[in-house]
Amino acid sequence: MFLLYWVTKLLIIMTEIEFRNLIDSSISSQQRFRNRWESMDEDDTVSLSAERSASILTELSERLDDNYPFFHPRYAGQMIKPPHPIAIAAYVMAMQINPNNHALDGGPATAKLELEVVGEIAKMFGYGEHVGHLTSSGTIANLEALWVARSIHPDKAIAYSPNAHYTHRRMCEVIKARSIEIDLTNLETLESEFKKGTIGTIVVTIGTTGTGSVEPLHDILPLAKKYGVRIHADCAYGGFFTILARIPDPIIAPEPFLSLHECDSIVIDPHKHGLQPYGCGCVLFKDAGAGKYYKHDSPYTYFTSKELHLGEISLECSRAGASAAALWATLKAFPLRADEGLGTILRKTRNAAVVWSELISTSKVLNEYCKPDLDIVIYFPATHDFSASSVSAATEKLFTAAMKRSESPLYLAAFSVPSSAIAKNFPSFKADAPITKVLRSVLMKPEHDRFVTTIFKEVSALSEGIH
Ligand SMILES: *Cc1c(COP(=O)(O)O)cnc(C)c1O
Repeated sequence: MFLLYWVTKLLIIMTEIEFRNLIDSSISSQQRFRNRWESMDEDDTVSLSAERSASILTELSERLDDNYPFFHPRYAGQMIKPPHPIAIAAYVMAMQINPNNHALDGGPATAKLELEVVGEIAKMFGYGEHVGHLTSSGTIANLEALWVARSIHPDKAIAYSPNAHYTHRRMCEVIKARSIEIDLTNLETLESEFKKGTIGTIVVTIGTTGTGSVEPLHDILPLAKKYGVRIHADCAYGGFFTILARIPDPIIAPEPFLSLHECDSIVIDPHKHGLQPYGCGCVLFKDAGAGKYYKHDSPYTYFTSKELHLGEISLECSRAGASAAALWATLKAFPLRADEGLGTILRKTRNAAVVWSELISTSKVLNEYCKPDLDIVIYFPATHDFSASSVSAATEKLFTAAMKRSESPLYLAAFSVPSSAIAKNFPSFKADAPITKVLRSVLMKPEHDRFVTTIFKEVSALSEGIH
């Protein structure tokens, strides 16, 4: 036990030293960059004493203690984890220059890096020629795809399933596009909707935000083609799992992922499964001609080049060039491959969910809401009076009890599901309220793979104490 403590401690210290070295090289890089020009005195108005800086940062550090341990496998709640140290170091390196990827004048180097990483992501999906760029979020990336969808079919509706991200409806309001909710699992109703000729684009979600479910893109695609309906794939969460779809024994159902290259547009969030800090989404269009919808003639920017500026193909203006630098460095270290890099990380997160699901199938105190398609598990405590209201109450108790434990707290997330969906799988369930609160764990850290049995045991023990 004693030895294990010191081995762990030593590993933590070594990781910390490595991280400091990375940040050091970011600072040296900036000094080297500045030294290319004559030295310059910093102006008095921006000077700040070391003591004052230190005291402000001490105060900030204390304020930041009011947070959950997103880095730790004990945090098994929402879709949050810190970026990889290489992404942080690269971001810090580029941020000191603060390039703006809006225009080539604003960030020549990082604009090139952006085109490279976007090209790699497009290749992962099987896109050939394409147009695309990074955005500040998945929501903005989706907004751009919906905006192009509306520009192509101004008189037709945009359709999405009830499980699509809530921002699709909202963004359709923003762009004044007619939108409808549609069940994507029932192909007959889908076809009858398509037949009416009123739907221009359909949003298919590859990894829903709630349950990580992958909608049946491969089944929808032939129908959409038959009726000339465009497809936008919202892969904000699940997109990187495409890496695992082409291996001989895929640990995810590969079909939807293998159809992605036929979609008209795709969105993916590198700030979710791409090890990036927030501020990094990405939108891609299969037809490079989509660029024409973005055309504008702002008088402020483009001076030095006749090449295409990223600002000419994006709705946003200023964007951090540092985001492109961070993603570029991360993909060098963790390439989009199944057998190394990001693929090995995703295998572990997926495996954690598979193991969790298997453990629950043997449990008397926990039930599974649905099988995980990716690495998100949804479960709920078994209650004596097996009803929506008792399960909701038990969920809330368990959720709070887990977080409030003085030793080794556990952070889960609560999630609302239609009671009718539970009743379908559990005939004895009494749907005495339309919505049931259940538990949700996004197992998006590779460390969850080793830790998942511990979490399961602890959640089971808590559940036993409650029901
Ligand atoms: C997270 C997510 C979004 C929204 O992305 P943000 O980066 O949070 O703005 C959209 N769609 C899906 C499927 C998501 O998982």
